[in-house]
Amino acid sequence: MLPVRRLLAPNPGVYTLEGTNTWIVGSEPSIVIDPGPDVPEHLAAVAREAGPVGAVLVTHDHPDHAPGAVPFAELVGAPLYAYRLAGAERLRAGERVRAGAVDLTAVHTPGHTSDHMAFFEPGSGALFTGDAVIGRGTSFIDPPDGNLVTYLRSLKRMVELDPRIIYPGHGPVVLRAREKLLEYLAHREEREKQVLGALEGGPRTIAEMVEVIYADHPKDVRPLAARSVLAHLLKLADEGWAERTGKADDGPWVASTPRTCQRCGRRVKGRARYCNSCSLAMLQAEG
Ligand SMILES: [Zn+2]
Ligand SMILES: [Zn+2]
Repeated sequence: MLPVRRLLAPNPGVYTLEGTNTWIVGSEPSIVIDPGPDVPEHLAAVAREAGPVGAVLVTHDHPDHAPGAVPFAELVGAPLYAYRLAGAERLRAGERVRAGAVDLTAVHTPGHTSDHMAFFEPGSGALFTGDAVIGRGTSFIDPPDGNLVTYLRSLKRMVELDPRIIYPGHGPVVLRAREKLLEYLAHREEREKQVLGALEGGPRTIAEMVEVIYADHPKDVRPLAARSVLAHLLKLADEGWAERTGKADDGPWVASTPRTCQRCGRRVKGRARYCNSCSLAMLQAEG
C-alpha cells in the first residue's frame, strides 16, 4: 500500500469544501502534491510532516492549489514541477516523477483548467485528481479556461487508468474510484439533457435556464451554476446542437441542428456553409 498522508490547508469555502488537500506521498524522500495557498503556517506544517522532500507537484494553477508551491519548494529545497506555473519546471503529459519508492506518472487531464494534471501510481492504483474529481459534489468548469469537451475526455482517460483509489484536491478519499468517475460522466450527461430540454420551448437566457435546472438548489449557487450551464452550452454549440443569438454575452440561446459542409459533407461549426478546409481550398482555387 502506498503511504499517503493528508494535511488540510486552512482555506475552507464554496469551491474548496473543508480546504485544499495537500498530499504527502511516500517518505525519505517524499513527494508533496499541491502545497495549496501561500499560508506560511500550513507550509511549515507540511514541511515538518513530510521530512526530506524529493519533489513538489502542482495539479493546476488555481489560487487554492498553487501559490504556496514556490515558497514551499524553496523551504524544503526540492524541485517543483507543474504543467503551467511560473517558477516551476515544466511537466509534460506522461512524464514520471520518482522519489524513494514512489513512481508517479503525470496524466494531462484538462477541463477544470487547461493545465490540469492528475498523478497516477500504477502499482497501488492511486490517482491524485486535484480538482478534476473532488471527494464530494462535482468539479466546477468555468469557461474559457475550463472546457467541458476536454473535461469529458479527461474523465474517460481516468476511467481507462482503472484507478483503485482517488486522492482528490478537496474532500474525502474516494475508495470506489471507478464508480465515482462513471458517476461524474453520468452527471454531465444528465445535465446536458436538462440544458437541451430547457431550450426546447424556445430561446432561453442562461439565467432563465438556471432558474429551471437549479430550482431545488439554494439561490447563492446561481452564479456558479450559470458558468456551468455556459460550459454545457459551449459544448453543445461546438457540436451544433445550440447557438447563441445576438452578440451580447447574456443573450438568449436557441436549439439548432448540426450543419454539414455543402462541399464535403463533414460537420461544420455554427452557421458556416463550408468546413474550414473546403473554405480554404475554394479560396486557393480562386487564386
Ligand atoms: Zn481548481
Ligand atoms: Zn481546488
